Amino acid sequence: MTIFQRIIDGEIPADKVFEDEEVLAFRDIQPQAPTHILVIPKKPIVSVAHADSGDQAVLGRLLLVAAEVARQEGLSEHGYRLVTNIGRGGGQRFDLLHVHVLGGRQMVWPPG
Ligand code: 5GP
Repeated sequence: MTIFQRIIDGEIPADKVFEDEEVLAFRDIQPQAPTHILVIPKKPIVSVAHADSGDQAVLGRLLLVAAEVARQEGLSEHGYRLVTNIGRGGGQRFDLLHVHVLGGRQMVWPPG
């Protein structure tokens, strides 16, 4: 079971900023920017690469919640970054789909 599943189940505490039946958003424990929030589905989808057409609505919801959380955090005007890592080569360490919301500093390109 992933750490994120334990957070969903309430076994591990998290600083939650949004929650509904489908989606949970909470602050990253090791922030890489002044604001760093993770948005995850409650359905156990490993990554975007593992999603299928039945996951279309929840994938859309993740992006909408990410944008709403960014608005709440005051990131919209300056801009921010959404990232979802896929597989070990893509930098994914926890096998439950998560969207990183990163903001509060200037983002650079290319990313690391
Ligand atoms: P990944 O590298 O898989 O894309 O992102 C995993 C993220 O989860 C990392 O940014 C890491 O700091 C965060 N993380 C790992 N363990 C915990 C935890 O127990 N609580 C919280 N809030 N974030 C965690």
